[in-house]
Amino acid sequence: MKPNFLQTPLAYLKGVGPNRAEIFTSELGIRTFGDLLQFFPNRYLDKTQYYKISQLQDSGADVQIVGKIMHLKSVPQKRGSRLVATFVDETGQLDLVWFRGQKWIKENLKLNQPYVAFGRINKYGSRFSMPHPELELLEAHKAGLKISMQPIYPSTEKLSNSGITNKAVSKLIQQLFLECKGNFDESLPDALLQELKLISKSDALLNIHFPKNQEVLAKAQFRLKFEELFYVQLQLLNKKATRKHKIKGLPFDQVGDRFNKFFNDHLPFELTGAQKRVIKEIRNDMGGSAQMNRLLQGDVGSGKTIVALMCMLLAIDNDYQACLMAPTEILAQQHYHGLKDLLSGMGIKIALLTGSTKKTERTFLHNQLENGNLNILVGTHAVLEDKVQFKNLGLAIIDEQHRFGVAQRSKLWQKNTLPPHVLVMTATPIPRTLAMSLYGDLDISVIDELPPGRKAIKTVHRYDANRLKVFRFIKEEIEKGRQIYIVYPLIQESEALDYKDLMDGYESIVREFPLPHYQISIVHGKMKPKDKDYEMDRFVSGQTQIMVATTVIEVGVNVPNASVMVIESAERFGLSQLHQLRGRVGRGAEQSYCILMTGHKLSNDSKTRLETMVRTDDGFEIAEVDLKLRGPGDLMGTQQSGLLNLKIADIVKDNHILKSARYYAIQLLKKDPKLALQEHQMVLTTYAQLFSGKDIWGYIS
Ligand code: ADP
Ligand code: MG
Repeated sequence: MKPNFLQTPLAYLKGVGPNRAEIFTSELGIRTFGDLLQFFPNRYLDKTQYYKISQLQDSGADVQIVGKIMHLKSVPQKRGSRLVATFVDETGQLDLVWFRGQKWIKENLKLNQPYVAFGRINKYGSRFSMPHPELELLEAHKAGLKISMQPIYPSTEKLSNSGITNKAVSKLIQQLFLECKGNFDESLPDALLQELKLISKSDALLNIHFPKNQEVLAKAQFRLKFEELFYVQLQLLNKKATRKHKIKGLPFDQVGDRFNKFFNDHLPFELTGAQKRVIKEIRNDMGGSAQMNRLLQGDVGSGKTIVALMCMLLAIDNDYQACLMAPTEILAQQHYHGLKDLLSGMGIKIALLTGSTKKTERTFLHNQLENGNLNILVGTHAVLEDKVQFKNLGLAIIDEQHRFGVAQRSKLWQKNTLPPHVLVMTATPIPRTLAMSLYGDLDISVIDELPPGRKAIKTVHRYDANRLKVFRFIKEEIEKGRQIYIVYPLIQESEALDYKDLMDGYESIVREFPLPHYQISIVHGKMKPKDKDYEMDRFVSGQTQIMVATTVIEVGVNVPNASVMVIESAERFGLSQLHQLRGRVGRGAEQSYCILMTGHKLSNDSKTRLETMVRTDDGFEIAEVDLKLRGPGDLMGTQQSGLLNLKIADIVKDNHILKSARYYAIQLLKKDPKLALQEHQMVLTTYAQLFSGKDIWGYIS
């Protein structure tokens, strides 16, 4: 292959020209020879088999059948007519159907001659049909048989209207192979090819576009998927290494009085092993010379808050301030009050800043922060406002990261000359292996152990028709002194309707649980913060037994006496949301319950979600199912990591390849961190081409 062959603009390929090149670029983002080469078929038609009509299934697959055309007739329909041919083999018959181009067909089709018909099978009633089949006389078909599997490329309307058909694309790619005689530069080190028994780059490209059979196709796919994931991993590892080298951190070298005093005298319980381990990991990080950028994952109720607190004490021991940011006002308040209690008697100044903080108080807070009198600031995104300036922010902790954007995260950084250490906490578990790849450039800690003595939550699925039984159960629980959550969905697109459901539901609950015997709180997003707080407080302090709410309570709220979580229209919630909601109960010593209410009509996905919830309360297992149902697009971090723009690999389905790619990328860098060895030159070149300009190999400079 000539140097820069792959960078040649597409217009220079024989058969393309400026017009077509333009369409390729605007429709598919294909600009160069290399891009076209990486334009992979998304499926293949296996023309190695012929089906008998009696074998046909209603599967929507494309098949080929040998048979003869017996009659042709025009069938009038609402507008115009359709042409129907009866196609028979020795086992049965089906209809070939045309809506367009009927004249040509009528004039050119030969009756009673053996044809190969190829196309998608539909079934109407008991009869199969094949609309707009590809037809070829059996004789010609046999003569023309060269490749046995036909690649099908993704297409768009504009492409096919411009005559860039599947055949045309395939021809252009053949032309590309001709021009370089099918020789492409190898992009993986020889040792890797040997060890993993991968086929060469040239073989892989040939067989991904023009596979001879299923077996070589599978080999080609594996090799190309591996390569793609391998380079994504190299990029992530490179970013991480660069960050560790370049971004200096604030050295927290002291484990001082505050930390020790809290640990010895104020800790209300024994830390779990996982909490201890994580605190140690974070301490090591912040004690080093690089800035910490760490993700702390821990299922709901695993005790992340105390870890956050102890890390903040480390910052304070080193004469820095700390900040804890939460996604909602309710959660920020709860954190504030909780931390204040834990810290009482320690002489540490802590304050709360949210959207509803009064102006005079705000001004006072700003001053206290700037002159360093204030040690800890807890708040909502209000802490990100420009007016909020710290004297010396050393640690920024973000709770429930999935509610915050990355832009907001980096905003916290700008509050100092040296960036503070950043700890992001999330209860939305990301499947372990995926986390490594998505956040390959972050460090990750996992609290994988719940505090002792928790009883597993009993989860059941009930249909709306059984509501009365559910109400009876709720009454029994209330008699035992427990409290109840009843949660309604609130989806932005159907907000008005959802509010109506909530209010209707609230009214029927009030009717079922009348005053003065029962007291009910209601909290939703349209209420003023003041009213929300009032209702929350009544529930937290046990004055009300039932909390009717939308998902505002999803995150973080802690009421240990609440033992029943009823989720209305549970089929409308995503799995991770259901799991989060369920995590609101089971925080005390009592047996807790989660009741998923739904109507009778459920989609398959909804059924899977409900079954998963009933079966397990392991957040990681739930996350795996969620990932399979929804794909990775909704997972935080996928956008940034480039793992969504993959050309051939799929991070969910190809997770085992991903693991292996990461492993070998790490091995390679261990052996040759600067990619200086001769045998790794092609890795460096390929890397530079893939991430041209925007992300140069960190160690080069
Ligand atoms: P989350 O990880 O969901 O933020 P929290 O930090 O709110 O969890 O902790 C949940 C509950 O568990 C709190 O009531 C907290 O006091 C308690 N808790 C945390 N760690 C322990 C522990 N090691 N032993 C006993 N209880 C603990
Ligand atoms: Mg929490």
